[in-house]
Amino acid sequence: MARQKSATAPTGHRGPVSRCVYDGTQLDASGFCLSGNGYPDTRPCPFACPLCRGDLTWSGACFRCHGTETPQVVTSWTFPGARFERDHDDGTPIGDGHHWVKIAEPNRRVPLSGAQTSACAAIVGRAVRGEMTTVEAHRAIDGIFEEAFQR
Ligand SMILES: [Zn+2]
Ligand SMILES: [Zn+2]
Repeated sequence: MARQKSATAPTGHRGPVSRCVYDGTQLDASGFCLSGNGYPDTRPCPFACPLCRGDLTWSGACFRCHGTETPQVVTSWTFPGARFERDHDDGTPIGDGHHWVKIAEPNRRVPLSGAQTSACAAIVGRAVRGEMTTVEAHRAIDGIFEEAFQR
């Protein structure tokens, strides 16, 4: 897939060039660092969900639509975005450990177990009832997703 590159275009009234704080490399328009082969971890995930345009997490999850047209069916959830990691599953850093490196393509199905499905549904219920904040719910569900994905 051809990505539009603007590195050689005349800069004109563009803002100051962004550089990676870790290696000084000039970042492209999306914030990608060529030296780190990823996105410096100083900024939030810049990607939007292809289905609902909500914010994606670095893990590729969308907490608005869960990558499905039937978000109420937890077993239909997918990761609509690519998965980025700073560390390997064994905890060793990828590269310098400061760049989000793409390690999996979008639209991975989430192989949730029955218990994990129940846990997600319970978290959603607690968030709906106001017993936990949306941010807390997102973090908890993200953890379950990652656990499921790494099995
Ligand atoms: Zn870098
Ligand atoms: Zn979405």
